[in-house]
Order: sequence, then C-alpha cells, then structure tokens
Amino acid sequence: MWLETLLSEKFYDACETHHDVRKNEKNIFCLDCCVGICPHCLTPHGSHRLLQIRRYVYHDVIRVGDAEKLMDCSYVQSYTTNSAKVVFLNPRLQTRACRNSSNSCISCHRALQDPYFFCSIYCKVSLSHLSLSLSLYIYIYIYNCVCSVFMLIFFICKCYII
Ligand SMILES: [Zn+2]
Ligand SMILES: [Zn+2]
Ligand SMILES: [Zn+2]
Repeated sequence: MWLETLLSEKFYDACETHHDVRKNEKNIFCLDCCVGICPHCLTPHGSHRLLQIRRYVYHDVIRVGDAEKLMDCSYVQSYTTNSAKVVFLNPRLQTRACRNSSNSCISCHRALQDPYFFCSIYCKVSLSHLSLSLSLYIYIYIYNCVCSVFMLIFFICKCYII
C-alpha cells in the first residue's frame, strides 16, 4: 500500500540517482510508482499522482490541501506555516511530559490542541489498522461461538431422537 511506503520513506535525503547534482533532496512522493523522488527524477512521472513533501520544524509534513484528495486527514493535528495548513507524516519524539494537557494523541499520547485525536498521519493509520484487526478478531470469535452453539443443538437433537 502506497501509504505505508510514504510513511516509512526517508525524505530530504540525497537522491541516489542524482547524488552529484544540486538540489537533489527527495521531496516528492509518486503514488503510482510508490517511491520518493527528487525534482530531477520528475520527467518519467509527469502523468503520475505526485505529493510534495515539505519540512516544518525539521520534520516531514504535507499540506492538507494536497493530501485531501488522497487521504482523510480529519482529526489529525494541523499547523499553519507559510499560510498553508500542514500535517505531520510521522509522530515526533516527546519533548515534554503531557501531564498538563487535557487532550493527547490516541495512538502515541503526545499532547495535542483540543479538537484533534491524532498527532500525525502515521498515528491515525496505525490505529485504524489496529481497530480493523480487532474487529476481525471479534468477528472470528463470535463466528466460533455461534458454530459451537449450533453443534451443541445438533448434538442434543440427535440424542433426543435416538
Ligand atoms: Zn533524482
Ligand atoms: Zn511515478
Ligand atoms: Zn501520535
């Protein structure tokens, strides 16, 4: 899935193909090829869906405006930089204890401003994966219970007939 690659990709590293060219930081993600690329790599990706990765306080961010067409950023803490709203791709290390904050990220417990649930896209995605596997587990459990009840009824009926 491209989202997992996006979240594990190291952006703003030098591009291996263009290591000897200026401005070779990988700051674009191609969703169709599922790869991080530098501005010099752009030509073969001309018709692909591209996402510009930006930097804010030394971390990778994406503009909410760019991301909205591709993913649901609701409930993720956003910040305003250069008059655009951005969200973090990955959680940042905790800088101070969040004891005084009334609200924190559901996934990593980092302190947040009020109307948000997640500090980053990563935390939102990891939690939805977790709830998905949890609901699958519950589903299998219920299925097994129903099966054993039917088996029991079948067994009782059989005994009764005999
Ligand atoms: Zn390149
Ligand atoms: Zn591409
Ligand atoms: Zn978080």
